[in-house]
Amino acid sequence: AKASGRNRLEVFDDALRAELDEVARTEAALRRALRDDELLLHYQPVVRAADRRVVGYEALLRWDRPGHGLVAPDAFIPVAERSSLVCDLDRWVLRTATQQLARWRAEGRADARTTVAVNISGRHLVDPALVADVADALAAADLRPGALVLELTETVLVSHPLATTHLERLRALGVAVSIDDFGTGYTSISQLQDLHADTLKIDKSLVWSTSPGAAELVRLVVHAAHAFGLSVVAEGVEDEEQLRQLRQAGCDEVQGYLLGRPGTDPRPAASAATATAG
Ligand code: C2E
Ligand code: CA
Ligand code: CA
Ligand code: CA
Repeated sequence: AKASGRNRLEVFDDALRAELDEVARTEAALRRALRDDELLLHYQPVVRAADRRVVGYEALLRWDRPGHGLVAPDAFIPVAERSSLVCDLDRWVLRTATQQLARWRAEGRADARTTVAVNISGRHLVDPALVADVADALAAADLRPGALVLELTETVLVSHPLATTHLERLRALGVAVSIDDFGTGYTSISQLQDLHADTLKIDKSLVWSTSPGAAELVRLVVHAAHAFGLSVVAEGVEDEEQLRQLRQAGCDEVQGYLLGRPGTDPRPAASAATATAG
């Protein structure tokens, strides 16, 4: 161990430097990816809990990185979030997803009520260009604002003054706002009435939780959300028992592998298409 004669701080320093190099490389590669068309969207159906009718699709970003295969967003969004690069990604997603919905409509695969949901990063939410970005994407795709759902993570909503201003302007436009990842610990039920949103999205970690009281918590959350005028979506639904419980809890919409996996050509899962509503 003392062969190199180097102290622990130097070793730590090397590790840190290597990590920063890797982040810088990924960031540069991601900028090229945006330019060279290596990004794509997968779409996952969102279905009505009562009868599994498809009401919309969530756009989920993928990176077809040469030599790496299809890379999931958790591996690169955090890198993009270090700079305004994430706003460029979000803008690309907004454009692409709205255009995809317009195309599905033209093909008769989506009707006038079908929505597309896009994840917006905290940085983009407070970017002065946000409202114009959203309006431009809608205009370019010739969609009415109600066709678009913006999914925002709870963390960013409370802190920044521009967040509230932008949310109000977007909702005035008619765009739907969904609070994503609810149940991961940042928002309490009592804060729900202060969040100006249309929908609450229960995180998969809460859907999957088998700890005592989890089912009761879901029921309480749904009840409170409804009382504040929010509809409720649950994500990560993987089996019939979870669906049954969520339906019983009063969840309006559900999303998960049971109902349909994310893909470029999303179809409701076969079991969902053939099952009868109960
Ligand atoms: P999220 O918004 O909470 O999205 C849900 C994640 O759960 C997605 O992972 C989805 O593929 C996955 N999922 C859905 N149903 C199931 C299920 O039944 N079982 C399991 N095991 N997983 C399920 P994904 O696509 O890897 O995205 C991860 C996160 O990356 C998203 O979490 C979102 O926060 C972020 N993200 C994705 N696309 C974008 C984007 O375009 N822009 C930004 N800023 N963030 C994005
Ligand atoms: Ca989401
Ligand atoms: Ca989530
Ligand atoms: Ca999220």
